[in-house]
Amino acid sequence: MSERLDAVRVGVASAAAAAGRRPEDITTVVVTKFHPVSLIRDLYGLGVRDFGENRHQEAQQKAADLSDLDLRWHFVGQIQGKKIRQVAEYADVLHSFDRVRLVEALPRTGRTLSCFLQINMTDDRNRGGVSPDELLPVAERVLGHPLLRLRGVMAVAPLGEEPARAFARLRRYSEDLRQIAPDSTEISAGMTQDYVQAVAEGATHLRIGTAITGNRPDTV
Ligand SMILES: *Cc1c(COP(=O)(O)O)cnc(C)c1O
Repeated sequence: MSERLDAVRVGVASAAAAAGRRPEDITTVVVTKFHPVSLIRDLYGLGVRDFGENRHQEAQQKAADLSDLDLRWHFVGQIQGKKIRQVAEYADVLHSFDRVRLVEALPRTGRTLSCFLQINMTDDRNRGGVSPDELLPVAERVLGHPLLRLRGVMAVAPLGEEPARAFARLRRYSEDLRQIAPDSTEISAGMTQDYVQAVAEGATHLRIGTAITGNRPDTV
């Protein structure tokens, strides 16, 4: 795994150099869903501090099992309204904020939660994320919550669209958001298959799983 991690670090550094960006401005979140906590400990030993999970129960259990380590949890999966309070107890960053209902379900006292607004870049309304035309109205609501810190936008490049084109589109949505939220400048985009294109279009947070962890055990 150490070789795969190094290969991704080199890949991110060279994509950053090609885009005239500094690699230290890019955070690689290692997505460890389906993998055991032993793998997370190994990655921690290799210097990784940012970990991503996409299912609440699994993430909650891992956060409890690894509470002795100073790591940051990034929740990247679709989230049920009634679960957000629990997710907010262990997650540092929520990448998949996608409904006004989540703002309403969050308590107004307690821990601050950083979040990205996920944008659905497909025409399929069942996919996670707000549609691009809902971005600003939902952002207004997030900005109005005392404990939510809006970091920027997040998306998954849709199948059937060139990642470079999708991420260029995402960058324009990020610019739209900055019109009303000048501090929400970050972009969560790029996975194993398309992180190079995401870096070229300004991604600040990459969510990389299999390129680093190898194949997920429970998925065939
Ligand atoms: C699983 C997952 C990733 C990582 O995917 P890989 O293709 O394994 O890099 C990134 N983002 C989200 C939202 C995911 O669910």
